[in-house]
Amino acid sequence: MTTEENQDLESIVTKQWLSYSEEEYFATYIALPRFIKVFRGKFQQIFNRRTYAIFNFSMSIGEIIVFLGALAGLGVNMGLSYGNKNNSGSAAGINLLVCIVFTVKNSILTFLCGLSYERGIFWHKVFGWLAVLGGVLHFLSTDYQWDGWFMLGSLFGMLGVSLWPIRYFLYEIFIRLHWIGFIVVIVGIILHGVDIAIYGLGYWGLDFLIKQAVIYRHLKNAHQIKIEKVTSDMAKITILDNKINYQGGQYLCICIPKLSYFQWHPFSIQSSFGEKKIEIFIKKSGNWTRDLLVLAEKLNGEQTKAYLCGPYGFPSIDIASDYYKTFVLIGGGIGITPIISVCKQLLEERTKGRPITKIYLIWTTRSKERHEDLLSEQYIESILSLEDKQKNLVERFYHLSTSSNNKKEQNNVNDTSENQTEVKLNTEDGKFILQRPDIKQYLKTIQEIAKQNDESRVGVMVCGPSALIRSVQEKSSSVSNSKVRLDVHEEVFAL
Ligand SMILES: Cc1cc2nc3c(=O)[nH]c(=O)nc-3n(C[C@H](O)[C@H](O)[C@H](O)COP(=O)(O)OP(=O)(O)OC[C@H]3O[C@@H](n4cnc5c(N)ncnc54)[C@H](O)[C@@H]3O)c2cc1C
Repeated sequence: MTTEENQDLESIVTKQWLSYSEEEYFATYIALPRFIKVFRGKFQQIFNRRTYAIFNFSMSIGEIIVFLGALAGLGVNMGLSYGNKNNSGSAAGINLLVCIVFTVKNSILTFLCGLSYERGIFWHKVFGWLAVLGGVLHFLSTDYQWDGWFMLGSLFGMLGVSLWPIRYFLYEIFIRLHWIGFIVVIVGIILHGVDIAIYGLGYWGLDFLIKQAVIYRHLKNAHQIKIEKVTSDMAKITILDNKINYQGGQYLCICIPKLSYFQWHPFSIQSSFGEKKIEIFIKKSGNWTRDLLVLAEKLNGEQTKAYLCGPYGFPSIDIASDYYKTFVLIGGGIGITPIISVCKQLLEERTKGRPITKIYLIWTTRSKERHEDLLSEQYIESILSLEDKQKNLVERFYHLSTSSNNKKEQNNVNDTSENQTEVKLNTEDGKFILQRPDIKQYLKTIQEIAKQNDESRVGVMVCGPSALIRSVQEKSSSVSNSKVRLDVHEEVFAL
């Protein structure tokens, strides 16, 4: 940005911005004192650093430490019980402990590892598999014990009901079976005396109680919401009485009694902290979201009651301080909603004097969504409500993946195909580019620009399909070097 543009921005500064200062930041349960937020930010800066990707997979330093910690615990435990036939059970016990601890939302572990909740769930699955493997080895090396059979059976049962097809296609059934399986595993842990896993249960139990207290508080304070059907497959929920403290990019769990008293579904907040009402965009997926669209038509603008829990989700990069001055915000399809929220928050903070050099907003979508009047580029421009001066701060790139032979569609969008061999960041802002984003090219160019600006790191946030997230993770790792590092926070909509 030129000095003149910077001065222009300074002229709209209304209130001084101070890092980690917002009262409401991360106030899921209580508003945290500033020194804790500072401490957490510093931790994140170290623990969220990612290693270079090997076979498209990279780990944060925090994840490596947890992994090594689990291995060390295993070694010590096995060493202490050397000579005892039962020592082989330690492997299963420790893996089970870590597996349980990773189920906790907003946990100390996800915080220390610089992990998003979704990434925590990934490790929950990994350690679950390791616990079963450890259990099998232990089973094969010891004499018959009925409670051992029970324990191993319960672990296998849990694994069986959590397999991908059940989780993905029959989510509600999966959740119920997972709860039943968990209760059976708890019985197994107690009967078989898996001492170490009991610590995990204690930790989980504490979080469970806190969560129940939060839900109870919310149950006493039902919220009034408005549900609108905005397109054939998308609804908007507006929470009118905003009593919730949240941060850009966080999500809420919602229960609408008119649909079901028992189902709570997670949805990202699209508004940004400080706005009077909270807006959420919901795309039709399965039964609950389909019924939501039907309910919206039935209610026809009338308000209804909803229970909310949260906010959840913790950015795994330190966005509460001026650690990053350049941001790349990438959304795929409906995944643009938390991205807009973060973008709005950064813009708001910029007006208070937060030093931000540039925000690159990249949205990639399929052709169908573009023709809906909701998530169009004009709509995004309008909800960001960019003042002319801020337009220089946010460079917007809207990508449309469409088949090149669809002439009708191409006539409706700005065809930048001449620029397709090389992505230039000076393409006209706010216009559709008829190709998938070349993530590597974007990140490389942005990294170059950051280097010219004497910045050594760039904050990247991505939400969308897992293929997009993997690509951003992988490309950020490969593009990062000792001069400029790109740190990524990812958000996925499917667990
Ligand atoms: C952190 C997070 C934020 C999300 N934000 C948005 C958003 O802003 N807009 C949007 O349209 N969608 C969002 N989703 C996805 C949304 O939660 C699901 O589409 C919705 O719950 C589907 O419910 P269903 O009964 O209609 O479909 P189902 O067929 O029951 O589920 C479809 C898929 O959605 C996921 N899902 C379903 N229920 C739950 C649940 N209770 N908890 C977690 N995942 C579930 C599962 O992966 C499942 O495979 C988000 C998901 C997560 C995890």
